[in-house]
Amino acid sequence: MSQQNDSNLMKKVDSRKIILVNNLLRWSKNNSPDYPWRNTSDPYHIMVSEMLLRRTRASSVIDVYKKFIRKFPTVSLLSKSSVEEIENIIRSLGMKSRSDKMKSVAKMIVEKYSGNFPSKESELLAIIGKESQYTVNAIRCFGLNQQVPIFDVNVKRIFERILSIDFGKSAHKKKSSWKLVSTVVPEKNIKQYNWALLDLGKAVCTPVDPKCKICPLKTICDYGLKS
Ligand code: SF4
Repeated sequence: MSQQNDSNLMKKVDSRKIILVNNLLRWSKNNSPDYPWRNTSDPYHIMVSEMLLRRTRASSVIDVYKKFIRKFPTVSLLSKSSVEEIENIIRSLGMKSRSDKMKSVAKMIVEKYSGNFPSKESELLAIIGKESQYTVNAIRCFGLNQQVPIFDVNVKRIFERILSIDFGKSAHKKKSSWKLVSTVVPEKNIKQYNWALLDLGKAVCTPVDPKCKICPLKTICDYGLKS
């Protein structure tokens, strides 16, 4: 993963993580958007939002999400719906295949777990899909308040720049990537921390021309310190 050996890398992470978490949390108070799916701890609502947000802009998802939750407020109601009913609501987002997936996941949760989301990672991966670590961690963090990381292209970029590392191709599929970012997740304010990372990656640590001068992490970031 890195040009540095594991022990040096972990020392670097350890020496920076308190500032990273504190500065990020402070920044997010005034800068993180207030999306409707951030005002719920219902794992079902979190799962719906994550499935709608996949490869889709948050601004396009807001109204669809609200309509979806009004129509199917519980996983039980979603499990009894028809795929056509789901498609009617999410059509504007494209990717019709999402309707089948939502219906089948809802059915599994109702039939196998009586409508209650399991809390174990292995059970969630079995339901949502082994390739869906991001969605599973989002449910665990935002819906079940578990101390787990979120890792997407934005978070990957931030950590690569802060630590001068390269996670390599398909980083989101590698256990080592998730393991490294998991060492920084704080015990408290877990949701706010993960939201803040996602938000910083979109608004400040952008792929091109990152705004290092106004970044709350510039004092602990290798890239920011050089720029
Ligand atoms: S200082 Fe620059 S490169 Fe580092 S995290 Fe902030 S925006 Fe990204």
